[in-house]
Amino acid sequence: MKIAIVGSGLSGLACADQLVAAGHRVSLFDKARGPGGRMSTRRLDTVVGQVSFDHGAQYFTARDQAFQTVVNQWQDNGIAARWPGAGPDAWVGVPAMNAPIKALAARHDVTWSLRIDGLVKNDDGWQLQSDGQIIETLFDNVILAIPAEQAADLLASWDKDFLAVAAHTVSAPCWTLMLAFAESLQTDKIAVRDDPVIGWAARNSDKPGRTGPDSWVIQASPDWSLEHLEDSQDQVISILSARLADILGVALPDPLVASAHRWRYARSGKADQNALYNEDLKMGVCGDWLIGPRVECAWLSGTALARIILA
Ligand SMILES: Cc1cc2nc3c(=O)[nH]c(=O)nc-3n(C[C@H](O)[C@H](O)[C@H](O)COP(=O)(O)OP(=O)(O)OC[C@H]3O[C@@H](n4cnc5c(N)ncnc54)[C@H](O)[C@@H]3O)c2cc1C
Repeated sequence: MKIAIVGSGLSGLACADQLVAAGHRVSLFDKARGPGGRMSTRRLDTVVGQVSFDHGAQYFTARDQAFQTVVNQWQDNGIAARWPGAGPDAWVGVPAMNAPIKALAARHDVTWSLRIDGLVKNDDGWQLQSDGQIIETLFDNVILAIPAEQAADLLASWDKDFLAVAAHTVSAPCWTLMLAFAESLQTDKIAVRDDPVIGWAARNSDKPGRTGPDSWVIQASPDWSLEHLEDSQDQVISILSARLADILGVALPDPLVASAHRWRYARSGKADQNALYNEDLKMGVCGDWLIGPRVECAWLSGTALARIILA
């Protein structure tokens, strides 16, 4: 079969891995410029050179046996390592969170910087549409491996049941602040959790394999992010910096760089499914949101969808 996957995050790539291993031809399409999805890494210019930040997922766990096996392989290949700073069961990509996604994407046919905004089906199969233009290639199957809200847009004309599942699975936003300092902050703390304003903050430079100056990633709590969704970057930088200083009990020096990123769909909802597949339409849906808001859930969902299609 020729299969198109919209979304080249972990769920789409995990699905592609299984389908390609079974002999199918898979093409992935992603609107981003490069690999990562919500496990992405941001590089920012400073006077001491580029500093990279894991500005999406901070760490992940591997509780499922099959996912644990995959993570062990990533460790053997030097693209993941344990990060004791977040707990005994925490893993991170090495040298940056997007490393496993980069490695997975490298073995597939991925088209980057292409936002799919429509799907067309005729007797010969599926075609994808971008910017109002239909892409010529025909596919037997189409898979959506994107957040629920974005999947809902593409599902609207096709499967009303799947659309209802996506529409009821709502993601929470997350304002994320990235800071780097020429001199390390005078604190032993590596991570901060569960403050009403800051849901999570951690010293990014404490993670294994990271080089460069003292860098921090500060994630606002879901409630605060929602309340301040339309704030300017400058407002967010100022409020979250002040809050971090309060919590750590240190004065923050002028940073080498300060940048805020608004994730509209950060922490997914939970549809209590593994994956969705419509055999008549030959359309599938996977993504963390089918199972829960975690890296492991994305891998499990993509793998589950491939298993359903192959069966
Ligand atoms: C701020 C933040 C913090 C997080 N913290 C953690 C954590 O600590 N631990 C943890 O386990 N998980 C965490 N997560 C969640 C984790 O990152 C996700 O569960 C996982 O990466 C989701 O993978 P996915 O493949 O389902 O979706 P994504 O990674 O979102 O992949 C979807 C891909 O589809 C692309 N796309 C979307 N729409 C289109 C379109 N129309 N056309 C083409 N391409 C499209 C996107 O560019 C993206 O690359 C966090 C996420 C965020 C944002």
